[in-house]
Amino acid sequence: MSIDYLNDFRDPAVIAALQAQIKKKATRPINIMEICGGHTHTIMKYGLPQLLPPQINFVHGPGCPVCVMPKERIDHAITIANMKDTILTTLGDMIRVPGSLGSLQTARAKGADVRALYSPLEALSIAADNPRKTVVFFAIGFETTTPMTAALIDRVVSSEVKNLLFHVNHILVPPPVCAIMDGGGAIDAFLGPSHVSVITGSDIFLPIAERYKTPIVISGFEPIDVLESVLKIVRQFNDGRREVENEYSRAVTPSGSQKAKKLIERYFAPRETFRWRGLGDIPQSALKLREAFSFLDAEKAYEGLLPNDPIDDHKLCMCAEILKGRAKPVDCKAFGKACVPASPLGSCMVSSEGACAAYYRYAKSF
Ligand code: SF4
Repeated sequence: MSIDYLNDFRDPAVIAALQAQIKKKATRPINIMEICGGHTHTIMKYGLPQLLPPQINFVHGPGCPVCVMPKERIDHAITIANMKDTILTTLGDMIRVPGSLGSLQTARAKGADVRALYSPLEALSIAADNPRKTVVFFAIGFETTTPMTAALIDRVVSSEVKNLLFHVNHILVPPPVCAIMDGGGAIDAFLGPSHVSVITGSDIFLPIAERYKTPIVISGFEPIDVLESVLKIVRQFNDGRREVENEYSRAVTPSGSQKAKKLIERYFAPRETFRWRGLGDIPQSALKLREAFSFLDAEKAYEGLLPNDPIDDHKLCMCAEILKGRAKPVDCKAFGKACVPASPLGSCMVSSEGACAAYYRYAKSF
């Protein structure tokens, strides 16, 4: 029998059965943090908090790559975009996120050449079509999008294109999770990210489950995926287990994609430290270009020209507390008033993966 990947994972009868099981078996309060913006949206879109007993509390972690990008790095992008004969390229939502100098969107409105790409590979043809200009790819994302940047670099080094640089902001999932737990995070269990785990494999989370004695269940994006993952977490507590389980076995393996990991390894090395919006400096939490490819590094090419002092968020904004699982979007006084998707005060309202954007969009669900 073939699987209908859309409807089978949203079947109301299965959802009701999982809901009943969780209600029956959940005997203690469990704070579950999801570390993927896609899960935040599934949880809010399908009203899962209302389906589940009050013991199950979803909190929203640093799973949206746009939300955790610090203002000073966005200012880098704007500074570069404003340079003469330069084209700044990046992915999707990044152009709307405010730094202290505005956003890439406002820079574009004032005349900067800023282009939002669907795929990083588009940057190569933009560079080839504009040989007299410098094209900079502002690379963002977790382990999910890093292989795409690596694939672009792979093409660049074997091509005649010499006018494409990279501003690398690729970040890693495990270090901020450890930082949150080391900072006293009251998190009992994690929904493990799905796309990230396709690349890394589920085994990457074994040390976290072991160190913090927290169940981690890698989950798919559909409502049945998330409910099944919650049931697995509840069962772990009832059985006295704290381990990594893989609910998303239709896409995730223990060791992930060897091809993607080799490509990442070829071009990137860990940064000593990286500043996260809301979470501060976290050692070994991001990637940089390997020394052999530093001729492609925009941060080196523009050394001394890019601002680097930490910049605080808007004083009303609670993104930092939300990303640590200590507050929810509705706790913010600006939510839905001074801060809405059309004029966001903070990054969590900008990105389609942000927790504030999810609450705003699916407000009827809570
Ligand atoms: S609602 Fe806006 S201001 Fe409040 S935490 Fe979210 S992004 Fe920040």
